[in-house]
Amino acid sequence: MTIIRGATTIERDDKPSIVESVKTLLDDIFQINALKKEEIKVFVFSLTNDIHSYHPAKAARESGYDFAPLFAATEPDIDGGLKLCIRVMILTELQENRGVKHIYQKGAKTLRKDISEIFNIALDGPAGSGKSTVAKIIAADYNILYLDTGAMYRACGLKALRLGISPKDKGAVEKMLLDLNLSVEYRDGKQHTILDGEDVSLAIRENVVSMAASDISAQHAVRIKMVEMQREIAQNMSCVLDGRDIGSYVLPNAKFKFFITADSKVRAARRFSELAQRGEHVDFERLHAEIVARDKQDSERDFAPLVCAEDAVVIDTSEMNIDDVVTAVKKVIQSQI
Ligand code: C5P
Repeated sequence: MTIIRGATTIERDDKPSIVESVKTLLDDIFQINALKKEEIKVFVFSLTNDIHSYHPAKAARESGYDFAPLFAATEPDIDGGLKLCIRVMILTELQENRGVKHIYQKGAKTLRKDISEIFNIALDGPAGSGKSTVAKIIAADYNILYLDTGAMYRACGLKALRLGISPKDKGAVEKMLLDLNLSVEYRDGKQHTILDGEDVSLAIRENVVSMAASDISAQHAVRIKMVEMQREIAQNMSCVLDGRDIGSYVLPNAKFKFFITADSKVRAARRFSELAQRGEHVDFERLHAEIVARDKQDSERDFAPLVCAEDAVVIDTSEMNIDDVVTAVKKVIQSQI
């Protein structure tokens, strides 16, 4: 279940103001979140106790929102609280982490800036630094979308491997991009990477794809295409993006930027156990050498390399566990939200 919140204020305590404000609020919540009637379980309204002239649940029903139970209750009178305010919580059957937008209108805009404004969190860093694990937890905690941008480059690398194209062959890769059909979908709160109609979420995790992803991601045409997709997603909803160039190139205006790093041996050990858990057994020294080579290639490419943005908060996770890193990231976010 996912809850969408909204609030608005009314100009005057009269029926036309209440009906107009409730209708506008619900219409916008539905339109912006592309909600369908059958996804709604219940509408719960609350209103400040200076509103007496009309019932917001009735206003909602009269505006066409009569397909789910509606409930309204008056809030206690709080000193200094917002006046003439109507809030709504819509309980939906949407998957968690689908990424929803909460809508705060008119005077209520001041209420929950933390959840009503679109904000992006950029988590950049080298392979195995722990950024994807942290990104998933942060996205779940704030109920916002997690976009694994590495998965997109991995899918491009996988396609090249499958076609027998060298990921370094500029001409062949550019031709491949012409009919690349890549998208990300969210099911059960998890990102699924869809390549030419096939869910390749597992296939892209194989170690052989890592270097192909790094090779192909250095291609200008590939980056242009992937970055365009990433920006389009990020401008429409709050999300956590992990990658190499999010804070420095994709979203230079991201509200929060972190650079998550760790000693290369520690990172190789993490990747080693991750692969082992999936049944892929590799030689540790070779994996370490590959990670170092990938970092070097990612950092030295001409266009949008792996780099720490000037305004990013750097976290070295070599001696930290995931909980420590999540706490450190959240501390920064909470202090600025
Ligand atoms: O993060 P992950 O290891 O899945 O990324 C695979 C490769 O994709 C990286 O080595 C890097 O070359 C590339 N990548 C990138 N820019 C991003 C994310 C990943 O170049 N934003």
